[in-house]
Amino acid sequence: MNAQRVIEDLRELAARTSTHDGAQRLAWGPVWRDARDWFKGRVAEIGLRVETDSAGNNWVTLRGASPKTVIIGSHLDSVPNGGWLDGALGVMAALEALRMHAGAAPPVTLKLVDWADEEGARFGRSLLGSAAAAGSLKVDEVRGLKDRQGTTLVEALAENGVALDRMTDAHLELKTIDARAYLELHIEQGPVLESMQKSTGVVLGTFGVERNMLRFTGQAAHSGSTPIPMRRDAFLAAAQTSLECRAIARRRSKPGAGVVCTVGVVNVEPKIVTAVPGLCEISLDQRALDPDVLAAMLRDAQAAAAQAARDNNVAVEWLPLWRIEPRPFHPALIDLCEQAVREETGDAPRLPSGPLHDAAEMVPHMPVVMMFAYSSNGLSHCKEEDTPLARLETTIRAYLRLVQKTVAHVAAAP
Ligand SMILES: [Zn+2]
Repeated sequence: MNAQRVIEDLRELAARTSTHDGAQRLAWGPVWRDARDWFKGRVAEIGLRVETDSAGNNWVTLRGASPKTVIIGSHLDSVPNGGWLDGALGVMAALEALRMHAGAAPPVTLKLVDWADEEGARFGRSLLGSAAAAGSLKVDEVRGLKDRQGTTLVEALAENGVALDRMTDAHLELKTIDARAYLELHIEQGPVLESMQKSTGVVLGTFGVERNMLRFTGQAAHSGSTPIPMRRDAFLAAAQTSLECRAIARRRSKPGAGVVCTVGVVNVEPKIVTAVPGLCEISLDQRALDPDVLAAMLRDAQAAAAQAARDNNVAVEWLPLWRIEPRPFHPALIDLCEQAVREETGDAPRLPSGPLHDAAEMVPHMPVVMMFAYSSNGLSHCKEEDTPLARLETTIRAYLRLVQKTVAHVAAAP
């Protein structure tokens, strides 16, 4: 088990593919291709080779005694001015797991995957490669996407030998694998492990999201001549709803099962200092790991908005923006992950993932678990992204233990 070698690889990759503003491995571009070429060389050193599926995902297969397969990996692409660990940590640690097992054929097959375009930073569609492999990508929804320079996704894919209309063939390719587990190590990208002073966390699943716009409609009126009881102030109804939604999230949070909600957009009209707002729109983004809790949060918010509308004599309308089901990880793999983290660190904090990850796309298809590494200052998607060295080494060792445990677990299963 050589955690130091993983860190050396990460440093070398960062040196090759970063400027002083951070990592520049934007999916489908030249720096990303260079990162993948470099990775191909690393893989060749252990006598293995990289194969690319129809969606541009890169796979490395270490054949074992059984076709039962444990998939390990993450993504090499980054946001512009990104960090050195987001995605790359999971790929480099998976490579070390292959090195560990490459000497003698392992009891089960190991497949490393480097998903294409996890970030969606250029065309706005995250989890592109893993969604194609999962069969959840609707190609017609992404066909019209363009980057800021006006290059279409279709053109960018073609530059990389990927045809949009063939991308979902990656799902047929995934289905030929006897996949028994998917393991992903990732930096937390938030402040929770740091606040607990823990190096490593066991991830329970990715949050479900309910995202809506709420439009409150009252009546614009003169701010001097309209007595307060006679107003129909749309902003106050929106503000009351926002505060009540925070109270709902606090009520629904339990230790180890936190939930969040955010009002990130506020539009008010007529936006004049001397007018009572006649119209106010707010966005409401609610997230939870438990589907029943998420559904209850939404119901509570609908009741709160209706009450705030009545209190302020305005109307309220809900406009759905986006939703996704929670993706809970697999109980048996969560237990193995907990054992691995506890053996390495003496403790195994469990936490949900607020951000989505490629792992979420694999949940309907196979048992999945993720492990998180501590994020310094909770920062990610920026050059300051970091994990203190000793904590990083500990986490990589815990992940390599998890791979070993999972291989043994899958080998013993029927
Ligand atoms: Zn990532």
